[in-house]
Amino acid sequence: MAATPLAQQTHRNRIPAERRRTFGLYVLAVTAAAAAFTLRDLTTVPDVLRHATFGLWLMAVLAIAGDALPVTLPGRWNTSAIYPSICFTFAIMIDYGLAAAVLVQGIAVGVASLRLRHALWRAVFNLGQYTLAFGIAYGVLHLLGGVTGDVGLSAAVGAATAWFTAKYLTTAVALWLRDGGALLPIIIGPLTNEALSTGALLMLGPVIAFLARDEPELVLALILPLLAVRRLSIITAEQRHLANLDTLTGLANRKALMAEVASAVAGHAQRAVQGDPRSRFGLLLLDVDRFKHVNDALGHEVGDRLLIAVGDRLAGAARDGDLVARLGGDEFALVAKRLTGPDEARELAEKIEQALSAPVVLDGLPLDVGGSIGIALYPDHGTNFAILMRHAEVAMYAAKNGGDGTAVYSADTDHNTPQRLSLLADLRTMLGMPDRGGLRLFYQPQVEISTGEVVGVEALLRWQHPTRGPVSPEELIRVAEPSSVMRLLTRWVVEEAVIQLAKWSAAGLRLRMAVNVSVRDLHTGAIVEQIEELLQRYDVAPEQLQLEITESALMADPHRVLATLTRLQLLGVGIALDDFGTGYSSLQHLRRLPLSEVKIDRSFVLSMADDGDDLVIVRSIIELAGALGLRVVAEGVEDDRAWRLLHAAGCELGQGWFFARPLPPDELADWLARTALPAPARLPAPPTPRTWSQV
Ligand code: C2E
Ligand code: CA
Ligand code: CA
Repeated sequence: MAATPLAQQTHRNRIPAERRRTFGLYVLAVTAAAAAFTLRDLTTVPDVLRHATFGLWLMAVLAIAGDALPVTLPGRWNTSAIYPSICFTFAIMIDYGLAAAVLVQGIAVGVASLRLRHALWRAVFNLGQYTLAFGIAYGVLHLLGGVTGDVGLSAAVGAATAWFTAKYLTTAVALWLRDGGALLPIIIGPLTNEALSTGALLMLGPVIAFLARDEPELVLALILPLLAVRRLSIITAEQRHLANLDTLTGLANRKALMAEVASAVAGHAQRAVQGDPRSRFGLLLLDVDRFKHVNDALGHEVGDRLLIAVGDRLAGAARDGDLVARLGGDEFALVAKRLTGPDEARELAEKIEQALSAPVVLDGLPLDVGGSIGIALYPDHGTNFAILMRHAEVAMYAAKNGGDGTAVYSADTDHNTPQRLSLLADLRTMLGMPDRGGLRLFYQPQVEISTGEVVGVEALLRWQHPTRGPVSPEELIRVAEPSSVMRLLTRWVVEEAVIQLAKWSAAGLRLRMAVNVSVRDLHTGAIVEQIEELLQRYDVAPEQLQLEITESALMADPHRVLATLTRLQLLGVGIALDDFGTGYSSLQHLRRLPLSEVKIDRSFVLSMADDGDDLVIVRSIIELAGALGLRVVAEGVEDDRAWRLLHAAGCELGQGWFFARPLPPDELADWLARTALPAPARLPAPPTPRTWSQV
């Protein structure tokens, strides 16, 4: 089963609280059954000790010594630990009876439990299991005509089969009670391997018994072959273990994660049938923030150590029974079983974030880690590994983009839901139609605050979907952005805007046109050539066009975006930094980018009249932009209070419902014709809203 790091292995000694009762009863039942089968024989122990022969002593010593160095590897079935004692104790049962075998086995189990630091209940359970197995095997031995000291092949095979069945089934039921899930896979999974390794040891029993009777010292000849078998099983088990292991961190790898998810899916079905409210499980995906920087700046060796440290912290934050895996690179995953719902998954994610919040100190250098966590729940967000993984990834990117540490999957943030895919398909179709379906551009005036003069417009998309009705531009961009349709869309928007400029010019109206472009549009220089060609074709001056970008556009690939922006500037097309004050708002951007304008985000403008902090921010941006020689536009001017405050703060341009809503081109022309511009002399008194009301 899945490999777990050392930090998690202790959970094998623990039973989830809600199962402790059932589990305790089970341990009691096994122990009681063991006692029932063997108690009568156990009274003969003093007799056995009195008549112990050299052969018995030798086999007892070898059995106990064998279990003092059991082969154990992390894994759910660490019964696949080989306990070599059983070949000797089985032989002892054949030659000296049940009491002798149980006595020696009991001591061997005790020694092994001490060595492996098993909890007391576990030692008791193991003892009960062995005793029960011997009790049943002894019964079968006699049934099949075996007499102590004289056992035929069929009796030996029958007794060994009974022994194995009792031991194997009691273990499987214990695992099932502890972990939940379906019983059958737990039974079938490791059956072949276990039957083979345990069977081999048991079948040595009659041989050893035979030797011990006549030539006890020949038993010693078996030590070397047994050691060889032991060595081989270690190697095989190690290999099996390694195949599920991420060698750098010692965590589980992707393969083990897949297996764990599969077993959790099986577990869900079982729990759901039982009406268990904790039947869900969560797949958490963590991507370490800024790992690439560390790797680039400090080298792979430090990067590796950082990953190991992150893995340790994750394993520390995980609950008992959760599986932590590294998927490669700086991506980690966690399977959190037995959840009631998303809140519990979030809680766990918060615990993980907390564990990652303290810097990792490497070579005396404190490194801030932190990460973004995406959560997908079974069965709510997917019913197989692939879908859960993809949805956890979508959530992780949402967490990254949203600036929150954690996000639970939601179809809203997923660009690939059927609804979005069909919207995207519709958009693509419409862009290919001569009339562009219901796609249109509206234009919102930008007004000089001190004079009221309209100096430009911003082009804003409007889409009247034939069946869905109006689709908001935000939704539209969200759908288009991750796909190649975005470039088609921008290309159309720019062309439409340039054509409109040419029309207005022909009508004697000279305005500046601002067009929004998205991240994706700036990743190649193609947009520069397109714009250049359009400006020429429609004979529009480059100064009349301006592109609005947001800072997020710069984050994805600053070098290429900067190159594109520089070429646009050389062409004479202005660049405005949109939504300034939100997101990253780096002052570096203001200084380094070829900007001509900054647009104060409307959230500040909307609330500045009531919120002193926002007013301070607006004033500071205006001052800062002025100092850097940038034009500043305030968005979201909804009323005359805002207008007045902006005027007092020395803001150059304003845009908002106070002046006009975005309008279709013909209405804009009407609006321009009807709107009496206030005389500069009357300022700073505000124009009456009536004069300015929108159409
Ligand atoms: P944005 O670039 O920040 O555009 C300004 C938004 O503010 C517009 O929303 C506009 O209608 C709204 N607005 C204008 N005045 C006021 C006001 O006084 N109060 C309030 N509350 N809002 C006001 P809209 O048209 O819904 O567009 C939303 C966003 O969609 C835009 O935000 C822009 O990011 C994007 N978008 C619109 N058209 C395009 C386009 O052609 N291409 C790209 N890439 N994005 C576009
Ligand atoms: Ca804009
Ligand atoms: Ca904006």
